[in-house]
Amino acid sequence: MSGVREYFGNIGSALGSALKGMRITLRYFTSEDAITVQYPRERTEPPPSYRGVHILEQEKCIDCQLCAKACPVDCIEIESIHHGRVLEWTKFSIDYKKCIFCEFCIPPCPKDCIHMTSEYEMATADNDAMVEDLLTWTGLRPEDQKSIEATEAKAKGGPAPAGGAAEKKADAQPAGEVSMADKIAAIKAKMGKKD
Ligand code: SF4
Ligand code: SF4
Repeated sequence: MSGVREYFGNIGSALGSALKGMRITLRYFTSEDAITVQYPRERTEPPPSYRGVHILEQEKCIDCQLCAKACPVDCIEIESIHHGRVLEWTKFSIDYKKCIFCEFCIPPCPKDCIHMTSEYEMATADNDAMVEDLLTWTGLRPEDQKSIEATEAKAKGGPAPAGGAAEKKADAQPAGEVSMADKIAAIKAKMGKKD
């Protein structure tokens, strides 16, 4: 007899659980508040601690490579020619196929010039597009060239050269053709940072 009671007791318990679940479903179903965000038509703002695409304040970076050394998956590549303190930039890329968004690269930076943003929309079917160059410019800017020439002239004991020659030699190229660079510029503008 106790077996029969247990059998019907289990059925009752299962029915009770099902009804409880249905009641919760019905409550949310008729609720005014949206539970699901209809992405990409709707978007929510990530929290401030969100770790998204990186941004580099290139003018502050000294190519010390500490961020690259701290990266556990070796996905940061930095290349530049050092002319004393002036840097002739070639590359500062992050391979987002490898990046695990751990943020380990941020704290070691002595210049506080690499950051993670709230940008997360980087889905693509192109593997190559997942390697992003964070540089705003490559090569030397006119002011960089001017600074090198001034240093060289000082070393030789001569007067500082006029600005025209420097501007002719400078070969800085904006990195605008890189798709993510446009995004980075937009992020920079959003963050109120200047190039
Ligand atoms: S977030 Fe982590 S994995 Fe990505 S570049 Fe920085 S250190 Fe490397
Ligand atoms: S740690 Fe900072 S200053 Fe050094 S290379 Fe990385 S971003 Fe540049």
